[in-house]
Amino acid sequence: MRCYIIFFLYIKINIDSQQAGAWEHYQFVKGAGFMPARKGCLTLGTLAHFRHLRMKITNLTSDSKTYTSNVYFLLGDWKGVDDVNALIDVGRDPSIIKKIKELDTGVGKKRVEKVVLTHGHFDHVSLLPTIKDKFDPKVYAFHSFNGVSHALRDGQTLKLADRWFEVIHTPGHTSDSICLYCAQDAILFSGDAGLIITTTDGSYEEAFVRALERIARRNIKTIYPGHGDPIADQVKRLLHMSVDNVRKSKIF
Ligand SMILES: [Zn+2]
Repeated sequence: MRCYIIFFLYIKINIDSQQAGAWEHYQFVKGAGFMPARKGCLTLGTLAHFRHLRMKITNLTSDSKTYTSNVYFLLGDWKGVDDVNALIDVGRDPSIIKKIKELDTGVGKKRVEKVVLTHGHFDHVSLLPTIKDKFDPKVYAFHSFNGVSHALRDGQTLKLADRWFEVIHTPGHTSDSICLYCAQDAILFSGDAGLIITTTDGSYEEAFVRALERIARRNIKTIYPGHGDPIADQVKRLLHMSVDNVRKSKIF
């Protein structure tokens, strides 16, 4: 019976919206049923999302002309009222402000609710005063440097978009480096932590080795690094190779 109702709704929305010329995207809101969500087109493709909802990840600095880290903007798949619009790092390119304002971030909430900084290097945090001024988010980092409102702990869970993330303290690149792991989507935001280690002649602190071993035990299909493109090919194999190489290296 429920299937028939959903199918009828799907046909009706499509016919109505096509007649109106302006298509609406509908979302299912707990306790309220289907609600108009944003302009768009409800297709069989979007219906398929009912089976596997994914949060939206946008790298706001993919075309930056300025030297900056990647800045990931995380939005829930349906931009529900409970979703937490979040930035992972803020970089140093002011042009991301316009992009954030142009994106559909949902109604009744801040465009940027949380900022999580992977560490305190200038190329990851320089734009923080501007972001705070424009969007007034809560700011999370492992060390409470200027502008940070919430200190993170290793193992803490944190809601970003419509997902829960585990904070993994990964010292090495800096003492305050963290990775953010989302089990549901099998993804890891790694900041500048050097997780792919191809040689055995490096030297690593023990806390980093433990963190790397912990990361390698997680189910990770894609790594979103602080610089460059996502790594989505043979991630599990690469992480195990890294652990092997680190164990053969100097550990202090
Ligand atoms: Zn760095």
